[in-house]
Amino acid sequence: MSESTPSIFSRIIAREIPATIVAENDRVIAFEDISPQADLHVLVVPKTDEYADVTALAAGDPELLAEVVAMAKQIADERSDGQYRLIFNNGEAAGQTIFHVHAHVLAGNLGEGTLVGH
Ligand code: AMP
Repeated sequence: MSESTPSIFSRIIAREIPATIVAENDRVIAFEDISPQADLHVLVVPKTDEYADVTALAAGDPELLAEVVAMAKQIADERSDGQYRLIFNNGEAAGQTIFHVHAHVLAGNLGEGTLVGH
């Protein structure tokens, strides 16, 4: 992916476009989804754009996947009651629109949007 146009998430990481950042460390960033589908809807994103989806991330850097999950839990603890839904869309037909791996962290009242409606 790094040889093509930077993903919108890479541009957020580079501070080229704004986002409401809620957590960050050397390898992972979290920011509010621009179109929230629950009381809490945060995206947790590895800073590298090397992995398009969670399948590739799990195969290529399982420790980084664990860091994504740990940040999701931290956010759910800090901003909700510690219980949360973690969604990775994998592939266009599954609803993925941005091919820079990201976890949706949802908590509180879950909406009826396509992401969580089933
Ligand atoms: P997915 O459909 O799983 O690829 O998820 C992409 C998510 O990124 C969607 O929930 C969008 O609402 C969200 N999104 C797109 N652009 C932005 C942005 N500039 N800032 C925050 N979230 C965004």
